[in-house]
Amino acid sequence: MDVLVVGAGAAGLAAASALAAAGVGRVEVLEQQPLAGGVLRYAPWACGAWSDPRLPRHAPAGRDAARRLLDAATGAGALVRTGWTATGWAGPLTVAATGPGGRELITARAVVLATGARERPRAARGVPGARGEGVFTGEGALRALHEHGQHLGATAVVVGSADDAGYRVTRALRRAGTRPVALVGGPPHGLTPWRALARLGWGVPVLGSAAVTELTGAGGRVTGVRLRRADGAVAELDCAAVVFCGSWVPENELAAAAGLAVAADLGRPAVDAEGRTSHPGVFAVGGLSHPAGPARRTGPRHAAARAHALAAAVAQHLAGAPWPGGAGPHPAPAGRDDANPDGAARRKD
Ligand SMILES: Cc1cc2nc3c(=O)[nH]c(=O)nc-3n(C[C@H](O)[C@H](O)[C@H](O)COP(=O)(O)OP(=O)(O)OC[C@H]3O[C@@H](n4cnc5c(N)ncnc54)[C@H](O)[C@@H]3O)c2cc1C
Repeated sequence: MDVLVVGAGAAGLAAASALAAAGVGRVEVLEQQPLAGGVLRYAPWACGAWSDPRLPRHAPAGRDAARRLLDAATGAGALVRTGWTATGWAGPLTVAATGPGGRELITARAVVLATGARERPRAARGVPGARGEGVFTGEGALRALHEHGQHLGATAVVVGSADDAGYRVTRALRRAGTRPVALVGGPPHGLTPWRALARLGWGVPVLGSAAVTELTGAGGRVTGVRLRRADGAVAELDCAAVVFCGSWVPENELAAAAGLAVAADLGRPAVDAEGRTSHPGVFAVGGLSHPAGPARRTGPRHAAARAHALAAAVAQHLAGAPWPGGAGPHPAPAGRDDANPDGAARRKD
C-alpha cells in the first residue's frame, strides 16, 4: 500500500482522487460509515456555494457532490472501502482497522487522516434540564431529515448562529415543514448575509446575545428552552426540537493516539500548508485539521483545492524528500503490536 486515507468525506475523497490521479501508487480509503461522503451526504444545499447564501443554487447539492467526489476518486484508481473503521495504530505507519472482513493491520508508505469534525452535543455544552426526544446536533438533524425522512416536529429552536451551520440547519428545517422559533447564541451584533436572510427573509429572530440555560420537557420529550438575554432577563420559548449547531470539535482520536503535535485549539493536529503533521509520512486534511466556518477552509471547494497541494507533498515524501523540520522517525505510538497479539490480518502491500 502506498497511501492510506482514513475518512471518505469531502476532504478524504478529494485527497484520494488527487493522489490517485498524481500516480503516487496504490491509494486506499477507509470509511466507517456504510456510504462514502461524510457530512456532505446530508447537506441539502448547493455545495459549490458552501459558505455563502447569496451564491447560486445550480451547484450540486451535497449528495450529488459526494457522489461526484466518490466517482472521481474511484475513477482515478483509488479503492474506497466502506464499513471499515480505523481504530488505532500498530506502528508509525500501520493502522489497525475493523470492518466486514474482521480486523486488519494496514501498513502504508503515507497515511492521510481525514476524519472530520463533529458539533459539540448538548451534554458537552453543559446545558441542563429535560432529557428525551427532540434534541439534535445540526448534523444529526440533517441526517434525520434527509436520510431517515423524519419530521422533527412543528417548531424548533436552533442554537448557534456563530457560523454558517445554524443558518443552514434553520433553512433545512423550514423546507422540511418545521418552523424555527429562534436562532440563539453567537455573535451579538453585525448583519451578515445569513442574519439578514433569517430575520428579513424568513422572519426568524436571531437572539445573538442570548444563551440557552436549560431545556424543559414532559413525557420523555423536550418541550422548550429557557434563555438568558444579555441584560440578564430570562425568557422561555416553546418548541418541539432543539438543534445544537456549530461549535466544532475535531474527530482527533487517531491523531491523538499517534501522538501528533497539536495546534493551539481543541487538539487539532498541527499541519503545514500541504497537510504534513509532526510525524513523517502522516498527513491531515479537512475538518480534522482546519476549523469549519465562513472562511471556507474545509468545504468541498476548498477540500479539492487543498488536495492537489497535499498530493504533491505526498509524492515528494514517497520519493524520499526529507520531512520539513528535520523530524526523524517518530516513536512508536501506544498500542504498537510487534507481536500482533490478537492475530489481526497484516497487510503490507
Ligand atoms: C449543518 C452543517 C453546516 C456546515 N456548514 C459548513 C460551512 O458552511 N462551511 C464549512 O467550511 N463547513 C461547514 N460544515 C462542516 C463540514 O462538516 C465540513 O466543511 C466538511 O464536511 C469537512 O469535510 P471532511 O471530509 O473533513 O469531514 P467529514 O465530512 O466529517 O468526513 C469525515 C469522514 O471520516 C469518517 N471517519 C471518521 N473517523 C473515522 C475512522 N476512525 N475510520 C474510518 N472513517 C472515519 C467519517 O465517518 C466521515 O465520513 C457544516 C457542517 C454541518 C453539519
